[in-house]
Amino acid sequence: MKIGIHELKMKPGTQLKFSLEESWRDIQVGRESIPVVAPVRVEGELTNTGKFIYLKGHAWTELELACARCLEVFVYPLEVPLEEEYCTEAVFQSLPETDTLRDEVRVYEGDILDLRPAVEEAFILALPMKWVCREECRGLCPWCGKNLNTEQCNCRGEEVDPRLLKLSELLSQNKGGC
Ligand SMILES: [Zn+2]
Ligand SMILES: [Zn+2]
Repeated sequence: MKIGIHELKMKPGTQLKFSLEESWRDIQVGRESIPVVAPVRVEGELTNTGKFIYLKGHAWTELELACARCLEVFVYPLEVPLEEEYCTEAVFQSLPETDTLRDEVRVYEGDILDLRPAVEEAFILALPMKWVCREECRGLCPWCGKNLNTEQCNCRGEEVDPRLLKLSELLSQNKGGC
């Protein structure tokens, strides 16, 4: 996911529009590696703002996630906005220690800007906390483990209403008192 910026670098105030497509095998989310099942597309523009190269754009792809309820894998399409600032090591070093920009800018080397780390991070940030194949997913039966989206089981029939349970407890206590 690399862009040549030799010319852009030379001329402050200029812009470079770009559109890239690349196949990725997976992305790392914590200790999990998530399969990327569609090409990663990135579109946007780079602006030479003098000290920095400012990136604004969008990225798209599709990931394969495992549902937290039914454990089936499903395809999750993603579209994320991109907004980044890049600078050279020399510019980075010239920023005061207290400058909060230090936490935000990315450093590039030479005439190449590699967008992959920024795009990967944007995808990870856009993932929901809990991965669910669909809102109405019924998940697995907590008693027999069957996938309730595709199968039926009799466990629910044997489930006891908690209010009835309380009542039967009271009744048995009364019996004990007699
Ligand atoms: Zn599910
Ligand atoms: Zn069951």
